[in-house]
Amino acid sequence: MVGAGISGLQTALLLEAQGCQVTVFEARDRIGGRLLTVSDDDGPSFEAGGEWLDSDQPLVHALVNKYQGNLEEAVREPALAIFNGEIRRTDDLWPDLLADEETVELMARSMARELTMPAWTNTKFAKYDTLTLATFIRQHCQSDRGYWWMTANLRSDEGDDLSNIGLLGWLTGYIHYVDRENLNRGESEMSAYRAPMGFSNLLESLRADLKGEVVFDAPLQRVQHTATGVTLHFEYKTESFDAVVLTLPPRCLERLVFEPALDTPKRCAIEACGMSRAIKIVWEFTKPWWKDRGFCGRLHVDSALQQLWEGTRGSKPILTAYICGDRAVEWTNLGDPVNAGVYELTKYFPEAKELFVKGQIFDWINDPYSLGAFSHYAPGYTLGHAKNMVAPHGRIHFAGEHTANWVGFIEGALESAHRVTNEVLAC
Ligand SMILES: Cc1cc2nc3c(=O)[nH]c(=O)nc-3n(C[C@H](O)[C@H](O)[C@H](O)COP(=O)(O)OP(=O)(O)OC[C@H]3O[C@@H](n4cnc5c(N)ncnc54)[C@H](O)[C@@H]3O)c2cc1C
Repeated sequence: MVGAGISGLQTALLLEAQGCQVTVFEARDRIGGRLLTVSDDDGPSFEAGGEWLDSDQPLVHALVNKYQGNLEEAVREPALAIFNGEIRRTDDLWPDLLADEETVELMARSMARELTMPAWTNTKFAKYDTLTLATFIRQHCQSDRGYWWMTANLRSDEGDDLSNIGLLGWLTGYIHYVDRENLNRGESEMSAYRAPMGFSNLLESLRADLKGEVVFDAPLQRVQHTATGVTLHFEYKTESFDAVVLTLPPRCLERLVFEPALDTPKRCAIEACGMSRAIKIVWEFTKPWWKDRGFCGRLHVDSALQQLWEGTRGSKPILTAYICGDRAVEWTNLGDPVNAGVYELTKYFPEAKELFVKGQIFDWINDPYSLGAFSHYAPGYTLGHAKNMVAPHGRIHFAGEHTANWVGFIEGALESAHRVTNEVLAC
């Protein structure tokens, strides 16, 4: 197993349960990959990577229930929206914005109802695959406010600017919303839960159940493969195995040397897979001033900060900014993004400056072992490449969120673990 993120650890456990002997190699000095609960002396403080769970994600719910008990329900209201300097509560939004939201949702639902899973089976809808989500939203919004609102919400879901997201791939993700509608559950079921003791704690529990060794500080560099086995070359050692599962994110896979080279469809799929550009900036304050302002911390704003929510996991009041796309790249290039963010906040909430204690930026775009936040279907990818990302190459198997139907999500990482386990056992 290469990668000790949630997909790697879960696959290792599932394979061990079937009698396989597994060793896990991890480039970092910790498990968890893109899941990281930052803690201090007082315990868990905030999630620096993946954080939210939807109501209809059974694999991750089952895992959290097994190791941590009931899921923690999110406080989502009252929330705010700020557009052109005007602040509104989200239960009192502008009518033109709401009309645009309804139009886009009705359109997306009717289109998604025609689609099937996996995403690449929708060959009838090739015209959607070449369109971007930005074009679709522009076509169906009448007002600037509506366009901003839809863009802000969907950019947050996708983790990148909508001009990078293929319409067909996005619509196949929208099938989940249609399913929720069928079950009489709605939008409020999204980002509805968190892991009560944090994701790092969950990952530690998985590791504790593992019999095999986890080897840290072992970045894989080269993979040699034959019909009978696979040899992995790390900086300081080389080891051979009957089969290998690679859970590295796409940009990291792209950096590996394969001997002989992977076939062309596989190489093209790895290169074409979109990796979203999302970062978090996290601030600690002496008190949760947003509550005094009458909102729960959740906010969409048409400034560089884009989106905020309360990230508190322990006793210290934490506000998290989640910034995606070109804007995220701009933030990572600033000399002092933490204080620049506080300055942005004080434009609307002057008390933030006085109550600010400390902060940190989590730049997943330049992190050498993620090289992006999570994957998305780029225009043309769904029909052109998605299927080839999943396929094994001889005794090399591929898992991770980028190989799943729940692409991008923690649920997808777990879905891939179940799929690849069956695949390895079958061969
Ligand atoms: C900012 C942010 C916010 C997110 N928000 C959410 C959310 O709210 N809800 C949600 O469901 N998902 C969210 N996600 C996505 C979620 O975190 C991921 O989908 C999931 O954690 C991916 O797990 P994985 O096992 O597929 O990959 P990873 O966790 O990336 O595991 C892959 C492992 O491979 C290792 N590796 C890389 N290169 C090498 C190498 N050469 N050799 C050896 N090891 C290597 C990495 O260090 C890593 O440990 C978010 C992600 C980010 C970054």
